[in-house]
Amino acid sequence: MGCVGRKRNHKGNHPWAKKGKTKRRTKDLDQIHEDMKPGNAEQMLNQDVNYDKPGAAQHYCLHCTRYFISNVALKNHFRSKLHKKRLKELSIEPYTQAEAERAAGMGSYVAPKLLEVKTQPDKEDTIMKDG
Ligand SMILES: [Zn+2]
Repeated sequence: MGCVGRKRNHKGNHPWAKKGKTKRRTKDLDQIHEDMKPGNAEQMLNQDVNYDKPGAAQHYCLHCTRYFISNVALKNHFRSKLHKKRLKELSIEPYTQAEAERAAGMGSYVAPKLLEVKTQPDKEDTIMKDG
């Protein structure tokens, strides 16, 4: 244990490292909100067979804009941290958040409105029920 008490440099604290508005949103959440709208969502989840896409575009996660090779892969994805994190991100309405931030600046904080974002229903289950 030799390196206790070693002096720490203020690494990464240079003035030129501070760049203000570099906050980038992960993969266009706005676009995904668009895709999540009724009608759009159905289209995204019922895409034509496309062999250029993984799984011929038949196993798509609307919220992560990702294609999966099989229903099992898609289901596994639904249980992943990544997907759950994304649902959380999407549950905050984009413009409401901007408004909330502005309101916070004026001293009256308004909590962002939460959307109910659910994992899409399992396609195979829906098909099975019909038989
Ligand atoms: Zn996902």
